[in-house]
Amino acid sequence: MGNLTALAPLVELAKKRGIIFQSSEIYGGASGVYDFGPIGVEIKNNLKRFFWKRFIHLPDNMVGIDAGILMQRAVWQASGHEMNFVDLMVECKKCHQRFRHDDEEIKNNTCPICKSTDLTLPQKFNAMFKTFFGPLEDSGHQTFLRPETAQGMFVNFKNVLDTTRQKLPFGMGQIGKAFRNEITTKNFIFRSREFEQGEIEFFIEPSEPEGEKWFDWWLQEWQQFFLDLGLSPKNLRFRPHKKSELAHYSRATVDIEYKFPFGWAELAGVANRTDFDLKRHSQVSGKDLTYFDETKKEKYYPWVIEPTMGIDRTVLAILCESYSEYPHGRSGKGEKEIVLDINPKIAAFKAAVFPLTKDEKLVKVAEKIVAELKEKSGNVFYDITGSIGRRYRRQDEIGTPFCITVDFESLDDKKVTIRDISTMEQERVAIKDLNKWLEPKTRI
Ligand code: ATP
Repeated sequence: MGNLTALAPLVELAKKRGIIFQSSEIYGGASGVYDFGPIGVEIKNNLKRFFWKRFIHLPDNMVGIDAGILMQRAVWQASGHEMNFVDLMVECKKCHQRFRHDDEEIKNNTCPICKSTDLTLPQKFNAMFKTFFGPLEDSGHQTFLRPETAQGMFVNFKNVLDTTRQKLPFGMGQIGKAFRNEITTKNFIFRSREFEQGEIEFFIEPSEPEGEKWFDWWLQEWQQFFLDLGLSPKNLRFRPHKKSELAHYSRATVDIEYKFPFGWAELAGVANRTDFDLKRHSQVSGKDLTYFDETKKEKYYPWVIEPTMGIDRTVLAILCESYSEYPHGRSGKGEKEIVLDINPKIAAFKAAVFPLTKDEKLVKVAEKIVAELKEKSGNVFYDITGSIGRRYRRQDEIGTPFCITVDFESLDDKKVTIRDISTMEQERVAIKDLNKWLEPKTRI
């Protein structure tokens, strides 16, 4: 488990090792937007696969969808986002910086930047990004980049029901981009303007007991997901929303918070959206979005339990959890070392393969191992430069769980040494058994 106490060392490592970069960095950066580099994209994709297998492929009553980011403006009018997706913003009259009204210092009527107490009254600010269909930039062609993936699932309720013949309770899941024009962006990828969500809309019979039952069920599932990813129980907690902070569509919401280096903050949530969305879309579109219950012989709008999570925030939590810094190395006698002890299923590379030297015979064996592992076990890194110690350390910094060294003995005994990132223990394994050894440890 990690020992990170502030985000700065992680941000530095992320840039140095190609995990996450600031967007448009060479032009001074696009604020609140981040690019996942060669290592980061692998981690994020593995996380998404882990999510998809567990919530879409394994259960029989779940299906996936990938809806467009752009939708008719009418969707956002019906869903209430055009009216209600607002943050309260306060401007400092002295330095003209803008802040969210719920910022702690703003609550105490002080500008967090220049400490002036001369602030404007809170003003409403809609957090959706405006854009236009086609060349005419008028209100008839205006729409928004989606601020949540959920609506793409609600408007497809009938299509999915008709094509999959699912019966209640069943769910639809989606992973995709969402955009919010956040007033302030901070804490690296925690609060950004472009991010990904993993969301499920779980349709159930419309009643309070059913709602409560499935709400609790999903909260446990969601929590277990984070535990299985490797987040520690002491860094996770539930935070039920007070009535006054509930979103306009929600009857009940519980956040799952993670203890980031900057404090406890929302990682994910579960909301009971009741029949709000299906009913609203039916009313505004004029299309029937009810469900026919064959046992009860009646038509009704199902209720919806919505578990949602931030994919980027989950990546951040994984990185924070797995980051450890050793000022004098893991031996206690060397130079500073950083170890990213990530769950092997989520790590960018399943293993790294090193020939001990550049000797042709070793290189040949190592290259063959790489090809075979890539074919069957997934992404594998090949490194031939520098001492073995340096090569270990490069892999430690990006979280590669296993380092495989081909040495001169390997030519005779047809075995290699595998070193485990967490324990640093070494094991000799037959080359022919490598896939069998690696695959179960890293398979999603
Ligand atoms: P917050 O209170 O932090 O603004 P929220 O309650 O508005 O978040 P939801 O509308 O519940 O967030 O969105 C679902 C999930 O999307 C959140 O649990 C979070 O993980 C993620 N998310 C929301 N806003 C952002 C953002 N600006 N950057 C990254 N992830 C976000």
